[in-house]
Amino acid sequence: MDCSRTSLRYGAERVAIVYRRTRSELVVDEEELGETEREGVRMEFLASPLEIIGENGRVKAVRFIRNKLGEPDASGRRSPIPIPGSEFVIPADTVIPAVGQAADLSFLPAETNFEIGRGRIRVDPATYATNVRGVFACGDFVTGPTTLIEAAGHGKKCAYAIDRYLSGQTEVTVTPNVKITSSWRHEMPEFYDVLPRQHVPMAPVAARFPSTEPTLNFTTPVELGYTTTEAVAEATRCLMCNYNIWFDPFRCVLCGACADVCPEGVIHMVDINQLKSEGYLPELEEAYGWENGAAMVLDEERCIRCALCVKRCPFDAITMERFELQEVSSDGRLYKESYRDGQLAGLAGVAGGAR
Ligand SMILES: Cc1cc2nc3c(=O)[nH]c(=O)nc-3n(C[C@H](O)[C@H](O)[C@H](O)COP(=O)(O)OP(=O)(O)OC[C@H]3O[C@@H](n4cnc5c(N)ncnc54)[C@H](O)[C@@H]3O)c2cc1C
Ligand code: SF4
Ligand code: SF4
Repeated sequence: MDCSRTSLRYGAERVAIVYRRTRSELVVDEEELGETEREGVRMEFLASPLEIIGENGRVKAVRFIRNKLGEPDASGRRSPIPIPGSEFVIPADTVIPAVGQAADLSFLPAETNFEIGRGRIRVDPATYATNVRGVFACGDFVTGPTTLIEAAGHGKKCAYAIDRYLSGQTEVTVTPNVKITSSWRHEMPEFYDVLPRQHVPMAPVAARFPSTEPTLNFTTPVELGYTTTEAVAEATRCLMCNYNIWFDPFRCVLCGACADVCPEGVIHMVDINQLKSEGYLPELEEAYGWENGAAMVLDEERCIRCALCVKRCPFDAITMERFELQEVSSDGRLYKESYRDGQLAGLAGVAGGAR
């Protein structure tokens, strides 16, 4: 998607993306695909390249064959099967193959013998050191293709490790601290569960390529960013997944009131024998022998943290547990810290967290 939109900004008259499966199998952000099509990129599904056709040392066209979908492959997606006799040609002067990303290791001097695994350079995860003394590595070169934020975090930790190495501090350790705060109270902001997703305002397509000069096209904003009201509305939709529901088995009397009140239907009271048939659960070992044993089961991924179950429970058997994580090194550096929502308590429109 990026390359096709970049090509338009470089002045390409016609751009096509050819994909061997259908739109449903394409792993892409829907909004990104929508914007790509809106900008005029043609999508050609169910086709695979057969041959790049050249003339006088330059690309002239690509020959493709149409596919139909067969049985699912190892990735779980239905595999494309070529349809004999369905070849077609798309004229082109530039072809960008999209066959996955891999690091180019050719610049590494052969005599250094860097340890390589699956096309990536190997490092000690605690020190970011490669097997070659004094050489460190991080980012996609080590992890394989990830995201900007992961590469940035990796880079920060690697920089700390290099600093420790240069200053001779070999005894530094990094400790994770998890803090859990229990509460019977939890308030979410008003309308958090009904506000629709706020779409980022976009420049009209006609305004996105104002020039034949690529530099100007590349510096023309496309995503215009939220207004303050939109930003607050979008942030208000946060479900605060660092809060989790906790059942106290010593207080619960299995009245089922929490399951009745849950608007998402994500709490279930389940017969122990039914759970047993799902596979052995060591937590329930003791209860397996009970004749009328039951367990409360909660689907945390679908829970919207409304806390109605907490308020409804007549025996205070449910609490909201707020999880916080900090990773601090013994030389006092903060490596990782979860969002400190407690700091925002009391701000208008923001959930105050457990109080
Ligand atoms: C097309 C595409 C779209 C992406 N879109 C997103 C996105 O929307 N959001 C997101 O979060 N992530 C996205 N990513 C992933 C993200 O770009 C990478 O995860 C991130 O850039 C990795 O950072 P890095 O510093 O490890 O490597 P890079 O950003 O690749 O930096 C490596 C640098 O080293 C330089 N270099 C290479 N070899 C040498 C050499 N021999 N000597 C000196 N310098 C050298 C390169 O020129 C480059 O500047 C995308 C990646 C691609 C390819
Ligand atoms: S409402 Fe409370 S006591 Fe009743 S089943 Fe739920 S957790 Fe147990
Ligand atoms: S917090 Fe709300 S959605 Fe989650 S389990 Fe309790 S009642 Fe259901």
